[in-house]
Amino acid sequence: MSCRENLDNLRAEIDSINFKILDLLNERARVALQIGKCKAELGISGFDPVREGGMLKRLLEKNTGPFEGEAVSAIFKDIFQKTLDLMDKQDRSVLKFSRLAQAENTVVRVGESEFGSGKFCVIAGPCSVESEEQIEEAAASLAGLGVKIMRGGAFKPRTSPYNFQGLGLPGLKLLYEAAKRHGLAVISEITDIRLLEKIYPYVDILQIGARSMYNYDLLKEVGTQDKPVVLKRHFGASLEELLLSAEYLLNAGSRKVILCERGIRTHERWVRATLDISAVPLLKQETHLPVIADISHAAGRRDILIPLAKAVQAVGADGLMLEVHPHPDMARSDGRQQLNMLQFAELLQALKLA
Ligand code: PEP
Ligand code: MN
Repeated sequence: MSCRENLDNLRAEIDSINFKILDLLNERARVALQIGKCKAELGISGFDPVREGGMLKRLLEKNTGPFEGEAVSAIFKDIFQKTLDLMDKQDRSVLKFSRLAQAENTVVRVGESEFGSGKFCVIAGPCSVESEEQIEEAAASLAGLGVKIMRGGAFKPRTSPYNFQGLGLPGLKLLYEAAKRHGLAVISEITDIRLLEKIYPYVDILQIGARSMYNYDLLKEVGTQDKPVVLKRHFGASLEELLLSAEYLLNAGSRKVILCERGIRTHERWVRATLDISAVPLLKQETHLPVIADISHAAGRRDILIPLAKAVQAVGADGLMLEVHPHPDMARSDGRQQLNMLQFAELLQALKLA
């Protein structure tokens, strides 16, 4: 046989070995996925360094070359890693928030507003409901500026127990009445499971505040009702933790969950929290749920809100939340970060929304 013919034969042999390796690799992957399912049911992590070490050791003992141990190790470590990636993907496809479970965007409709359809929605209003006059003035101005959804806290989770705690249910009713007089939808925070029935009639969206993101009992309860929920990221929470909190709502039956980035704690002292702008595209990749950002509680100051709002819009968020007050200097909470109506109108113009 000529060398040329021999080369052709050897190449054909290599091709056939490649196919066998490919079949074996996929057979291995299918078995590994079954192991992954068993482990998930048992609540065991997919990654098992001890077992991996044992497998490698046995492979190296069996190895007769010509590949050296180092090469065998490298090849199998790659196989192990790719298998783990596959198991991760399988795990995530059973999570309800995941794009692997639902590829298309969830669209949450609130009146004329749509979160997740490609539109950019603005939620604005004062930090707290303070009086009938304040909330009426706010509602009238916001409606005049084209806002569709008004915020206002009635049950305020304050860091100090000595600070204004909100007007409670009477405040929520004032917010609702003012908003409805001006054709606005209402979002307000729920802090306590026991308040759900009382709050429910007076909101169009329920807000779970940053501090309550880890209150799983609250999430389980709020997830049983049918109104949209804005779930805010705790200032110490990873994105995965935020998504798993959303999973509690989804598991309880809720389908209308909107995620809200609102700044995380870093070493930076010139802002109240650091707006994590990368959270928006990362969340949009990972989940089909709409994503908005609250720039007011991130910045804690009003002078940088226009560039932050532009950033939120540019990075692909489905909307923006911010605090706007008819007279910020007289506000009973978060005065430093609230815009007055004129400043808010400028912000809307800068976003080309007015
Ligand atoms: C709020 O939006 O009223 C609020 C208290 O924000 P956070 O929960 O993000 O601190
Ligand atoms: Mn506030």
